Amino acid sequence: MSLLKIKLPIHETFQSTVQGEGFWTGCLVDFIRLSGCPVGCPWCDTGYADPGANLPRVERPIAELLAEIKSPRVVISGGEPFIHKHLPDLVQALLAADKRVNIETSGSFWQEVSPAAWITLSPKEHINPKYPVKSQFWSRANEVKIVIETGGEIDFYQEHLSTHPNLLVYLQPEWNSSSKSIPLILQILQQKPDYKLSLQTHKYIGVQ
Ligand code: SF4
Repeated sequence: MSLLKIKLPIHETFQSTVQGEGFWTGCLVDFIRLSGCPVGCPWCDTGYADPGANLPRVERPIAELLAEIKSPRVVISGGEPFIHKHLPDLVQALLAADKRVNIETSGSFWQEVSPAAWITLSPKEHINPKYPVKSQFWSRANEVKIVIETGGEIDFYQEHLSTHPNLLVYLQPEWNSSSKSIPLILQILQQKPDYKLSLQTHKYIGVQ
């Protein structure tokens, strides 16, 4: 089947916004949000922590997704993109259309995707041990974004962070407890000056 006819379950898409987090903060991007995630983080802002939530899931062909793209870079997020067997096809089609591709993942499910895709690993194993990070991601990811709520998250992932010293590490305050988590991050940065603070800029400027 042609790549363009393949369908994926879509939660939503939006165009010409800015990436609010991590290395590409401030860059003009489109988002393709794939539907579904089983991990269940209590502070998930996508709705997937609530098993009873009736969230959007519309099967859409890749051709239709490509036709609405406005930005040179496309962020594929979720939910959890790697649960979808056609994720590599979507990545391939975007690259063939001369788009740059970022994928955001909890790392709980592994598939090979093109090495040209930038991968942001945001591990949630400390939240839900039933969904450990697949080991391949620690080598494959381009950046790691750790949501800081208690400060113990760094210790939890320390072994992986130490054995992959070239990984870019971004610490993101958990939005609902930012008055506590931002000071925690400032303390961590004093011990780990190569790590960086990542704020959810899009929320501060009121875009999606
Ligand atoms: Fe939400 Fe991401 Fe956690 Fe899934 S892994 S429940 S999408 S925060």
